[in-house]
Amino acid sequence: MIKPVIDGHISSEYGYRVIQLPGQTVPTKNFHCGIDIGAPISDKAPKIVSPIRGSLYLFGFSKSFGNRIWIHITEGEYKDWYLVLAHMDSLNPALKAGQIIEEGTFLGIMGNTGMSLARHTHLELRDNPSSSETEEHCKNPELIRKLFP
Ligand SMILES: [Zn+2]
Repeated sequence: MIKPVIDGHISSEYGYRVIQLPGQTVPTKNFHCGIDIGAPISDKAPKIVSPIRGSLYLFGFSKSFGNRIWIHITEGEYKDWYLVLAHMDSLNPALKAGQIIEEGTFLGIMGNTGMSLARHTHLELRDNPSSSETEEHCKNPELIRKLFP
């Protein structure tokens, strides 16, 4: 695995956190299913590349994730898990559903789309692509965390 963004840093950790998301009137306790990565302010358009090899399962806009990409991991220790990269400003227009994604394939530009409070990339590992963000399906994020020592 490689870093999805050069000079990236962890901006929010995995697990329960108290947060007030857009549309909420009061802060609530949410389960954060992934790890958030930020980039230096001086980088106006941080490029996001794929941290891992797989196939492009889903991409486009969703209300919560904004512009997001789902990669189906097709080999190795994490085979048949999914990696989500969310809230991008824009996605690489050359991407096609089902295509092979290599480590380092350009995916898009970091952004603040969907249910997001600031520019960042949300990275999430799931054991299935269902829409429910329950702990049951959110996988241990050590894989992501170790990219940002
Ligand atoms: Zn997040």
